[in-house]
Amino acid sequence: MASIPQLILPTGHSIPQFGFGVFQIDCADTAASVRTALEAGYRHIDTAQMYGNEKEVGEGIAGSGVPRSEIFITTKLANDRHGYDSAITALDESLERLGTDHVDLYLIHWPLPRKNRYVQTWQAFEKLAADGRARSIGVSNFQPEQLDTLAKETDTLPAVNQIELHPALQQERLRAYHRAAGIVTEAWSPIAQGAVLDDRDIRELADKYDKTPAQVVLRWHIQLDNVVFPKSINASRVRENIDIFDFELDPGDMATIGTLDRGHRTGPDPDTFTG
Ligand code: NDP
Repeated sequence: MASIPQLILPTGHSIPQFGFGVFQIDCADTAASVRTALEAGYRHIDTAQMYGNEKEVGEGIAGSGVPRSEIFITTKLANDRHGYDSAITALDESLERLGTDHVDLYLIHWPLPRKNRYVQTWQAFEKLAADGRARSIGVSNFQPEQLDTLAKETDTLPAVNQIELHPALQQERLRAYHRAAGIVTEAWSPIAQGAVLDDRDIRELADKYDKTPAQVVLRWHIQLDNVVFPKSINASRVRENIDIFDFELDPGDMATIGTLDRGHRTGPDPDTFTG
């Protein structure tokens, strides 16, 4: 079974660099998908209150036979739960659904700058980290301006920022910010929901390394030190996606993928998204 690299978060906790995302997996399929992923060697599950499938994630974990202590669980605060008290109660409800007494990582899912409640929300997250209900805390879809505000107005920097990132949207500005601040970059939609897999350069690299286009793209993320958690409801793709730890892209091929940025988003723009 694949040995998955671990990164160390600023909190001192380690995070498996590769995991399983459950966005857009129907509740009816979630427990079985999670079990398939755990059987294939995944030890990191990325869910969210807004995905509506935390209960089934918990059932999949419980039914897998893999001890909770070996699994890294992330969940994210729903957009309608910003605010100090609400962010705390929302995590308690998540823990109940997931069937656990802590998550490994709790994220503010979207900054919602027009609501402008993310600072007080973050202060609640700091309390949850101090209590141990969230081992590490972080954010998602934050831009440099909002990270600057947290740095100025609160005591803790996020351990991670989970952002849309793939060859067609490489996020150089945010990645440079993260590197300078010691924030770990998590890449959501790491294969752009499939949109980058027909790219000619990626297909040529897949032929060269005798891998699939998805494996080439996921390997590129790993070599950039991004954390990734591709989603699939297809068991053979779940196994394909984790089979990326037996080859390495050479620097020239990393550079070739580096030229494929075209500013293409698959999801909302955080500057304008209002939830
Ligand atoms: P991904 O980039 O992981 O792509 C998933 C899509 O690609 C699915 O349609 C899947 O189809 C297909 N696919 C998966 N593996 C392969 C493969 N090997 N070959 C061909 N096609 C494949 O997109 P997601 O948007 O799901 O992102 C991954 C995770 O990121 C989410 O599940 C979630 O955890 C997180 N996320 C976070 C967001 C945030 O705002 N913080 C926003 C969006 C995602 P099939 O299932 O049929 O195999």
